[in-house]
Amino acid sequence: MQMYVYLIHFKYKLHHAGHYIGFSKCLDFRIAAHREGTGAILIRAITRLGIPWIVIRTWRVDGQGFERHLKNQKNAARFCPLCNPKILDFQNEYVGGDDFCSEFLHEITQLNERMAITPMLFQLNTPEKPYTFEASSFTAACVVTTLLGGGFYSLWQAGKQVMPMFMFGGAEKWYQRTFGKNFQDVVQEVSLDEIAQIYLTLLAGKPEERQRYLQELSMVHHSKQALVSAASQWRPQIKPTAYGSTFIPDSGATVQLLDGRELPVQEILGEIGINLWLVDLGEIPSYTITPSGDSRWEEVETAIA
Ligand SMILES: [Zn+2]
Repeated sequence: MQMYVYLIHFKYKLHHAGHYIGFSKCLDFRIAAHREGTGAILIRAITRLGIPWIVIRTWRVDGQGFERHLKNQKNAARFCPLCNPKILDFQNEYVGGDDFCSEFLHEITQLNERMAITPMLFQLNTPEKPYTFEASSFTAACVVTTLLGGGFYSLWQAGKQVMPMFMFGGAEKWYQRTFGKNFQDVVQEVSLDEIAQIYLTLLAGKPEERQRYLQELSMVHHSKQALVSAASQWRPQIKPTAYGSTFIPDSGATVQLLDGRELPVQEILGEIGINLWLVDLGEIPSYTITPSGDSRWEEVETAIA
């Protein structure tokens, strides 16, 4: 069985944590578990907060060593194609349906542009209103327009009509003339993935409306306020807590970890389970800690920034 190390990118950082690196002998199953909220603690917290996340990169490995190596770097963003513009070549073999894919439209579009798989912008005119979408090829754009409109939609690019409406038939003739093949054969040239990808980029309105929308969307992406307010609601306010914790570390106190390090608790980011907290320990971005038997604290899982 192929083993993988995978990198998950969070749309908003949970405090300093913007990524998660994991290892799995069964990638699809593992990611599905993350989505279900039964996987790693950090991802569970992220999912609970409603922070969208995406599997952005995978590595084929033959053991867990590489995962350790990556985690030890303490800088997952360096390996993330969305965060590090220098990455021009990477693998992502995770193909499962990601609930949040549409949330990353903007990021993926930017990534594609950088990777020089620049998608082209098309306008699809229906009798009611115009729509825009992105496609990596003219062929794919024509196929999608015909599939969606059944011949009643026209396709435009850069203000010019590139495929007419076929109100009174003539689609076959047009495909023959343009591609030298009939429609059925042209459809075969376009992968289902490509079609699905185009559907994800469909927006109502003209190109200028699309631009405005994407601009606003990117502003929302960078609004820390939304995250901070979500995090403060999530933070337990009253005791006893929903999880039945009996002891909550005082955010002004110092904690001594099992390995002897003494660190100030700067901020308790949230309670994750019974006697389990995601905390910011200052020096290290964020930790999950739980009390051990001898008044010291045990690290449960490290979040990497
Ligand atoms: Zn990233």
